[in-house]
Amino acid sequence: MAETKKTKVLIIGSGPAGYTAAVYSARAMLQPVLVQGIQPGGQLTITTEVENWPGETHVQGPDLMVKMEEHARAMGAEIVGDHISSLDLSRRPFVAQGDSGTRYEAEAVILATGAQAKWIGLPSEEKFKGFGVSACATCDGFFYRGKQVVVIGGGNTAVEEALFLTNFATKVTLIHRRDTLRAEKIMQDRLFKNPKVEVLWDHTVEEVLGTEAPLGVTGVRARHVDTGAETIVPCDGFFVAIGHAPASELAKDQLELHNGGYVKVEPGSTRTSVPGVFAAGDLTDHVYRQAVTSAGMGCMAALDAERFLAGEG
Ligand code: FAD
Ligand code: NAP
Repeated sequence: MAETKKTKVLIIGSGPAGYTAAVYSARAMLQPVLVQGIQPGGQLTITTEVENWPGETHVQGPDLMVKMEEHARAMGAEIVGDHISSLDLSRRPFVAQGDSGTRYEAEAVILATGAQAKWIGLPSEEKFKGFGVSACATCDGFFYRGKQVVVIGGGNTAVEEALFLTNFATKVTLIHRRDTLRAEKIMQDRLFKNPKVEVLWDHTVEEVLGTEAPLGVTGVRARHVDTGAETIVPCDGFFVAIGHAPASELAKDQLELHNGGYVKVEPGSTRTSVPGVFAAGDLTDHVYRQAVTSAGMGCMAALDAERFLAGEG
């Protein structure tokens, strides 16, 4: 028979927000249950060096997340390898259904489901996904040793992906739809100094070009945003790095969302539109979206949940 797990605090998500919420709520003796989802450790597990986590000049993203998980366990949080497929916030206890068959009942819920990579939405992008089209240089960069690649995007992720790919590829073309990058200046400096990198400004990608048998990428067709002139950029790999969308499916039609799907919280808190439900990290933050801010919000969510439960006696 399917198991039912009852808890005071259910934390959904295992990125910096989820694990920090677990540390704080475990230390508040709330015996939290944290469900990790299909990406244990969250987005930082798909990157390499993290240089802006206080106290660590250089730390590998996956290593940092292993440490956070160990920390949460050591404080007494129960960490569960499961994925929540549905959540009922209409009455208490709140009920979450796990893919494993486990049903979770909770007095308070902390949502920390983060964000997922965005795609451009081209049919050709879809066709070549996994066959030359990727949204993760850390995962797939190795396959492009001695080859040419294109990265699209102008934020920190795109610049970081482009720089990482220079470790393998002979040439990296960064295509951006404007004439300035939104990435941090220090990252831009590194990009512009790298002899393997070329930037194609003011262009969008219209089509990924490739072969049928075997399925594989041979280039992209780019278009100048003002003149409409087309350019074919030859490449073996196409990396999409145009940002992330909040993973708010569980909250849809139950919690107030804003700014294109981010969970809305009361300013200065993690309280959502449903009492007893708190949101933290990239799921609720369309501005900062950093590991340290996510962790900070995880802390706030645990403290908010503790006060909410204490207020109920
Ligand atoms: P996430 O890390 O996105 O984690 C979300 C978690 O929710 C995952 O564990 C997932 O499995 C889980 N989840 C989702 N849906 C469900 C579900 N239905 N059921 C159960 N669990 C679910 N920030 C920095 O500060 N420094 C950096 O150097 C840096 N580098 C980055 C490099 C890359 C390539 C990327 C993509 C991001 C980078 N960031 C960096 C941003 C940083 O990773 C995020 O801000 C941070 O991870 C957000 O943390 P989070 O806890 O909100 O969510
Ligand atoms: P982002 O900052 O939102 O940047 C997305 C980029 O993609 C923008 O340059 C945008 O162009 C472009 N873009 C969006 N949609 C597009 C489309 N359909 N076609 C072409 N281009 C498109 O996203 P991000 O780079 O993933 O960063 C997300 C957050 O994580 C940020 O807060 C970032 O600081 C953080 N992060 C930090 C680090 C680090 O600290 N080392 C590393 C990675 C990420 P416009 O500029 O024209 O809008």
